[in-house]
Amino acid sequence: MPRMLSGSGRLMTGILGGLRAFAIPMTTKFRGITVREGALVEGPAGWGEFSPFAEYGPRESARWLASALESANRSWPAPVRDRVPINVTVPAVGPAQAAAIVAGSGCRTAKVKVAERGQAEGEDIERVEAVRDALGPGGRIRIDANGGWQVAQAARMLRRLARFGLEYAEQPCAALDELAELRRQTDVPVAADESVRRADDPLRVRAAGAADIVVLKVQPLGGVRAALRVAAACGLPVVVSSAVDTSVGLAAGVALAAALPELPYACGLGTMSLLAGDVTADPLLPERGELPVRRPPVDPARLARWETDPAPWRDRAAAAAAYLGDAQ
Ligand SMILES: [Mg+2]
Repeated sequence: MPRMLSGSGRLMTGILGGLRAFAIPMTTKFRGITVREGALVEGPAGWGEFSPFAEYGPRESARWLASALESANRSWPAPVRDRVPINVTVPAVGPAQAAAIVAGSGCRTAKVKVAERGQAEGEDIERVEAVRDALGPGGRIRIDANGGWQVAQAARMLRRLARFGLEYAEQPCAALDELAELRRQTDVPVAADESVRRADDPLRVRAAGAADIVVLKVQPLGGVRAALRVAAACGLPVVVSSAVDTSVGLAAGVALAAALPELPYACGLGTMSLLAGDVTADPLLPERGELPVRRPPVDPARLARWETDPAPWRDRAAAAAAYLGDAQ
């Protein structure tokens, strides 16, 4: 049963009353969506983003809401670094385009999408080879299969790709037992992304021996502090990634990456370029492969440019708020 709101309920009601909704077209189709929709809330500490994907119900969305409320109401934990390295993402394009994307990015780490449905294994090989040529020997390459391989194919592909030097393979297979089996067959580190959707998932991943690295996102885990607790409890190295947020949500991701005691890998926070616009005049765009640790202010005119009816989002937030006790 949904729980009643506790102590901060009245403050939250006020914050949700001022909720603003946005819909920003995407430059690239992602997760099957072409417009990124969500809401922003403002509190004493600043703005927070609440943008659970459309298929998420109130219980799941409660963690996203907890994250937005944390950003609005509380300052973030102190940073231990002032810049966060980020990766460029190379979609399942041909080798020439892949090389151009990497060369134009300024990043020293590339995440190369592989295992795209309808493509041959040779296309993945050519793409990774082109990225290695573009990066030079000092750059880092990770691949992301989005769970698209079976164990045998993953093992074969990691063998074929080994000569290009992979820092890790992100979600090569879908299931935890498959990832664990693959790890027994390869020396390439494995990262869990889709396998991590809620706070206890990283512990499950670790217990199953399914990954060497976990990809964490602030909103689905319930905020910066919650994600830091998850990282500490899990004990595996963390790659911070975005949920294709506006700069408001990205700033929370940057705050997490800045506060982690160790940050051995570049983060997946360079996603502003996936959106056709932003709600700030000073978007969190990478400079020479890094994001500065900062929190850009919302610009009223830019927010107004993408603004939509807040009523459906107020309803989603109110429904999610009933489960906030479970999210924290
Ligand atoms: Mg991924």
